[in-house]
Amino acid sequence: MDFTGFLGNDAVKTRLSGAFASGRVAHSYLICGPAGSGKHTLARLLGAAMQCEGRGGKIPCGVCSGCRKAFEGVHPDIITVDDPDHKAMTVDPIRAARSDMFIRPNEGKRKLYIIPRGQEMNESAQNALLKILEEPPDYGVFLILSTNAERLLPTIRSRCAELQLGPVEQREALPFLRQHAPDKPDGVLRAAYLRAGGFLGQALTLLQDAEDEPFVRQFAAAYAARDRMALLRVLLPMEKAKREQLLPALQQLRACICGALAQRSGLEAASESAAQIVASRSGSELLQASDSIQAAIDALAANASAGAVTGFLAMKLR
Ligand SMILES: [Zn+2]
Repeated sequence: MDFTGFLGNDAVKTRLSGAFASGRVAHSYLICGPAGSGKHTLARLLGAAMQCEGRGGKIPCGVCSGCRKAFEGVHPDIITVDDPDHKAMTVDPIRAARSDMFIRPNEGKRKLYIIPRGQEMNESAQNALLKILEEPPDYGVFLILSTNAERLLPTIRSRCAELQLGPVEQREALPFLRQHAPDKPDGVLRAAYLRAGGFLGQALTLLQDAEDEPFVRQFAAAYAARDRMALLRVLLPMEKAKREQLLPALQQLRACICGALAQRSGLEAASESAAQIVASRSGSELLQASDSIQAAIDALAANASAGAVTGFLAMKLR
C-alpha cells in the first residue's frame, strides 16, 4: 500500500504494508489519534485496499471500481456505523450492523463496518460490538476510529490490530499541504503545520480558518502599498458601523498587524495579509499601527463614537 503523503508514522506504514503484503487482513482495526490526525483518511485507504480488485501494481490501485466507489464513499459494502443524532453512541446502530453482517457482501470480497466515533460508544454498545468481534463472518471487517484508545474495553482492544497515528514529518507534510492549499505561500503552510503539531487534518482546518476577512485583506493590501486613498476607502465606511460590528473589525485589524510584527521578529507568517505587510513596513511602523488600533479599541470601549474612532484611525494609519 502506498501511504506516502498521508501518514508520517513509519511504524504504522510498515505494519499495514506487512499486513497486506502477506494477504492477512485482520477482522478488526482500531485506528487512534487526535482530531485531524488522519483517522478518516486511513479508514478510506484501508476501505479501498480491502475492496480493491487489484488492477494495478499497487493496492489500492485507485482505478478499479472497488477503489473508486470506496474513495467516493458510495461502496455498498462499506458501511458507516453511527448514531449522529446522539452524542453517545448507543447499542442500536451496533445491533443493526450485527444483523446486516449476516448478509453477504453485495459486490466486494469483504464487508466493512466503520465506526467513526469509537470513543463515544457506551458500555452496552461496546459489549454488543465485542460479541460480533468474537465471531465475525469471514468477510466481515470492523474499522473502529477513536480519539482515545483508553475509552474502549480492554477486551475490544485485544481483538483489534491497533494503529496509533502520529504527527507527520515536515518534509512529507509540506507537499501535501501545498497540494491542498495551492494558493497559500509556503510560510503560511509551515506556520499552520507547526501550530497543528504536525497533524495534517488540523493544519488544513487552520489554513481555512486563517482566511482573512475581505476587509482585512483590503486593509493589508492598502497598508502594504502605502496607498493612502485606498486606506481611507477601507477605513472611512467604518464610521457608519455599529459599535458591536466595529469592535471585532478593529480586533481583526490589530491581529493582522500583530501577526506581521510576529513575523518580523522571526516567527512564521500567521496569514497572507500579515506576510504582505511585513514585506513593506518596518517594525516601528507596525508597533505604532498596533498601538493606534489598540487606542481606538480602548476609546470605543470607553464609549467614543464610531465616527470619532474612525477619524482617529484615518489620521494615525498612513
Ligand atoms: Zn483498486
